[in-house]
Amino acid sequence: MSGLFDLTGRVALVTGSSRGIGNALARGLAEAGAAVVLNGINQERLKDAEAALAAGFGPGRIHSCAFDVTSDTEAARGIAWVEENVGPLDILVNNAGIQHRVPMLDLDVKDWERVLTTDLTSAFLVGREAARRMIPRGRGKIINICSVQTDLARPTIAPYVAAKGGLRNLTRAMTAEWAASGLQINGIAPGYIHTEMTQNLVDDPDFNSWILGRTPAHRWGTVADLAGPAVWLASEASNFVNGQTIFVDGGMTVVV
Ligand code: NAP
Repeated sequence: MSGLFDLTGRVALVTGSSRGIGNALARGLAEAGAAVVLNGINQERLKDAEAALAAGFGPGRIHSCAFDVTSDTEAARGIAWVEENVGPLDILVNNAGIQHRVPMLDLDVKDWERVLTTDLTSAFLVGREAARRMIPRGRGKIINICSVQTDLARPTIAPYVAAKGGLRNLTRAMTAEWAASGLQINGIAPGYIHTEMTQNLVDDPDFNSWILGRTPAHRWGTVADLAGPAVWLASEASNFVNGQTIFVDGGMTVVV
């Protein structure tokens, strides 16, 4: 591991990392040397994920803390737990997110608010708690997981599009207030990623051929494609990268 990208001795928290993209990002940060705290709501799933990841690393490297990222008191409790039990938090990845598909005319305001709270407000709540600890130390990395829907809309996912667009500007707002204190806050916007969740789309010949045709790289992304950009944005190698959102999408958002 090049010294520039080495995360040895760093403490990272990845929200929503009991499965999916968050879990892969946690593995990537751990492989770069960080001690990693996994998070989710479902205790059993989280403990299973912790045991599975810990098997590949030495003692004390992988931890877990269940808390709900949509609650300000829970976010404060979670960050305090990390600092007391693992160490000063160096890296926060705001990854937890949900989707809800329904045409806007039929969309209930409760579902609108649930998606906005989970996909946008959570990054403010957990990010604020992390920044309260990082700012006095004069350093810290916050990575907000956006989406191609940060830039592009699709029918039936209005709250997700609004939340992910907002998350890019929240990344900029955090930069405006916290960059002078030595924090770097950036976003990663994954394209269409082949995961368990999207297997049904990969298996759908029409959708699959639409993705391949719409993506200059002519393939689906993998969770491994996201680890390198996350390690870069978590490391010293990105110390003058502030407020950017990096699209990891095979070029989807630069073509029509
Ligand atoms: P996923 O497989 O559904 O996993 C979601 C994770 O978030 C789980 O660990 C879940 O924990 C956790 N979570 C949900 N609500 C939470 C809450 N209130 N508090 C704490 N944890 C919570 O999701 P994913 O597909 O990997 O997506 C992860 C992120 O990447 C999301 O922000 C998503 O928008 C973004 N993204 C995904 C794709 C894609 O192709 N999948 C593409 C672009 C962007 P529990 O299991 O305990 O509920």
